[in-house]
Amino acid sequence: MNLEDNIGDIVSKARLMTGIAPAAAAQAAGISEAELASLETAAQVPAKMNFPALAKVLDLDPKKLAGIAQGWLPAPEDLSRWHEIRVFTTVEDGGSVNSYLVWDEVNQEAALFDTGFDATAALACVAANQLQLRHVFITHSHYDHVQALPQIRAAWPKVRIHTSSKNAPVDQRNKPSEIIHLGGLRVTYRETPGHAEDGVTYVIGNWQEDAPHIAVVGDAIFAGSMGRGNDSWTLARQKVREQILTLPADTLICPGHGPLTTVAEELAHNPFF
Ligand SMILES: [Zn+2]
Repeated sequence: MNLEDNIGDIVSKARLMTGIAPAAAAQAAGISEAELASLETAAQVPAKMNFPALAKVLDLDPKKLAGIAQGWLPAPEDLSRWHEIRVFTTVEDGGSVNSYLVWDEVNQEAALFDTGFDATAALACVAANQLQLRHVFITHSHYDHVQALPQIRAAWPKVRIHTSSKNAPVDQRNKPSEIIHLGGLRVTYRETPGHAEDGVTYVIGNWQEDAPHIAVVGDAIFAGSMGRGNDSWTLARQKVREQILTLPADTLICPGHGPLTTVAEELAHNPFF
């Protein structure tokens, strides 16, 4: 799977975040405004560009930014370490979004993290493994992450919904320090707003054989990038730093878009951090 954001997307996001005008960014990079525009929209890297100077004005890490331009990808993860997790990527109108099905193999209780555009494949996996779908955890209420909720509730009318949306009924809202048990697994949450007002990260722990924690982060952070700071770029970046990148280094990060990654990979390679 390709990164969610290429070098151009990252430069464009960082420019929005810092409020640097195209002329100033182009001047710092030693390129024309037209070259900056084709970098941002088509990921065309000019032959002669001052990467460190551009990174500096955009408040990005120069070495990590250069790494993205050179084609960095997170190392592939062997998901058989966790019993069990499956990734479902659904596509609509050219956009793709991930949802994650997690279950305890001992008692067959399952939880879905975000719904994607269409839950047909996830529901088929629930049936094929004779699981009981107990919970749906929503990372934030952007449509691509919740679109299949009616389909899931039709199949599993008693499924419990978890969200931090203020528009949701009170009994569906996440409560601080609440621990949800999924068989032997434990699910907790931490608030990671910025990309979305109701953005949360769910942390799944207590795996047998000491497999690392899993963090389902929605659009707070992507491999090599981060979600748009629709509500607040500064808050979005700060919450990722405080709430996600402080998790143990081997924590598996499951983003709403793009490939899986880890805390260690992002600390070493994400130019925003
Ligand atoms: Zn989103």
